[in-house]
Amino acid sequence: MTQLKDSIVDEFQYTVDELSFRNRSVLDQMSKMQEATAKLNRAIVKASTQCGCIQIHSKKQMYPVDQEYNLSDVKNFMEEHIEGNLCDGCMEQIDKEMGKTLYYFASLCNTLNFNFYDVILNELDRVRILGKFNLK
Ligand SMILES: [Zn+2]
Repeated sequence: MTQLKDSIVDEFQYTVDELSFRNRSVLDQMSKMQEATAKLNRAIVKASTQCGCIQIHSKKQMYPVDQEYNLSDVKNFMEEHIEGNLCDGCMEQIDKEMGKTLYYFASLCNTLNFNFYDVILNELDRVRILGKFNLK
């Protein structure tokens, strides 16, 4: 692991490394990460299909083609397809699943000698540079 920096992200990564006795294999970490993201998606789906605190109404994203607009305006035309607000129970479950995803991401960082904080900083740089052109 790279040098411990003074940030909560580094503290998290260091703690995950110290407390991880199981799933030290990169294969286990990769599959646990995938499982965690699947559970995160499942928690979001259940908020709609079982709890009902949110409704998901997807449809094709529409934006005017006959008007001139800049890329920052495109965001205003894009819909999130969510109505309603997460209840406390769903919010807590989704928060937990997001945390598990970060846990396995941190463990992958440890195994592959990446610094979690640096990954975030590098992505922040890419997002800022590419910004509006990164429409994926
Ligand atoms: Zn709910």
